[in-house]
Amino acid sequence: LMIPITGSTQKYHWGKVGVDCLVGMYSKKTHPDSDIELFKNIHFAELWMGTHPGSPSLVKITENIQKWVTPEFYEKHQGKTVHLDELIISNKSVMFNEKTESMDVVKGSGSLPYLFKILSVDSPLSIQAHPDKQLAEKLHEQFPDIYKDSNHKPEMVIALTEFECLCSFSEGKTILKRLHNNPALLEFFKDVNIENLADDEKSKETLKEIVKVIYSSSDVLVAECVEKILSHIESLDEKDWTIMQRLAFRLHEFYENDVGIIFGFLLNDFVLQPGESLVLGPNEPHAYIRGEAIECVAASDNVVRGGLTPKFKDSATLIEMLTYSTEDVEPSKGTTSEHEFCKHIVYNSGFKEFNVHKIVFPASAEGNAEENVYSVNIQDPSMLLCTKGKGKVTDQADAVDYEVEFLNTFYCLPGKELKLSRHPEEEFEVFIATIAE
Ligand SMILES: [Zn+2]
Repeated sequence: LMIPITGSTQKYHWGKVGVDCLVGMYSKKTHPDSDIELFKNIHFAELWMGTHPGSPSLVKITENIQKWVTPEFYEKHQGKTVHLDELIISNKSVMFNEKTESMDVVKGSGSLPYLFKILSVDSPLSIQAHPDKQLAEKLHEQFPDIYKDSNHKPEMVIALTEFECLCSFSEGKTILKRLHNNPALLEFFKDVNIENLADDEKSKETLKEIVKVIYSSSDVLVAECVEKILSHIESLDEKDWTIMQRLAFRLHEFYENDVGIIFGFLLNDFVLQPGESLVLGPNEPHAYIRGEAIECVAASDNVVRGGLTPKFKDSATLIEMLTYSTEDVEPSKGTTSEHEFCKHIVYNSGFKEFNVHKIVFPASAEGNAEENVYSVNIQDPSMLLCTKGKGKVTDQADAVDYEVEFLNTFYCLPGKELKLSRHPEEEFEVFIATIAE
């Protein structure tokens, strides 16, 4: 069984304005009676699908789900809209499985261990890192107002459009080259023996010293350095600018003289192509810059910010938590299996809370609708999102068919086999977030 849900949209200053972006389109689609004029100036940043207490997904209790819920629950909520976690907790034996219940993040609640999202990014997000489990527990105990839960928050991002982001420290020799290419940075870090960045034995500690200098410098010094960086870049031929040099102007445009502009020169800069993904592990610095993407994260709110934000920057925690790993990071295209009419791509997060699957039926396939079928086993509680075209999903055991179209969202019950199909002339693309095996 799949239960149609309505996810919540989050409006943040960095989101895309209006209804031309995916999050805006979703909002328009799920609020058909709203005055469209009102949407024109809204920054649509994120769509959330899940049970996050800040903004759980909504479910309308219709006749279709009557036989899956207790009679008391149905009687009480029939025709009404409830929070997804409320539906789960009142009907747990059907909505969850044992494996999910035994996860310590779930702890007898109706909460999913992951949060599934679409991001529509127009201006840069803060440079941030998320604590590992141990640190999350400690921070939550010490500063419960800032660090609201004790869970870690690994993230995975899968590009839907070109997606620009900064992720993890670059290799030591790459950073060293960037510092030499930008004299203002050489001057800024003059008290650090930066040549040690090229030495594998010493690059981590050198990088930590560099980060300490960034956060112990006064705002005036930082502003001076940023100005010098920018005027130096301007003196160069624009066609020779590196991605990061180009980005420095963009960051400055949104966060004038921000310390994050200097920090950015230490990180890998990526322009992910559609279908490419990155996993952002605990204690790794990152920032999303521009584009639209699927994101899946472990259910948590813990963010340690270090720049490109007007919000609280916890630099002391950031300095100590970062791994300073300078190992090469490469975007992944996931693991693809080719089937007769479709491709099934698995993006492994490496964390037990979630994996993401993508199933793509291209428009050009042959055969007829009855033949164009692909079966997926939904073992654990999952979220399904259609990102292109339309198709049909059939649950034969439960004898239900669903017409699924662009930006429809569903909660899928565990232990079901779903058959996906579509007309040969239609393309059909879905993402499924689920718990890792
Ligand atoms: Zn993050």
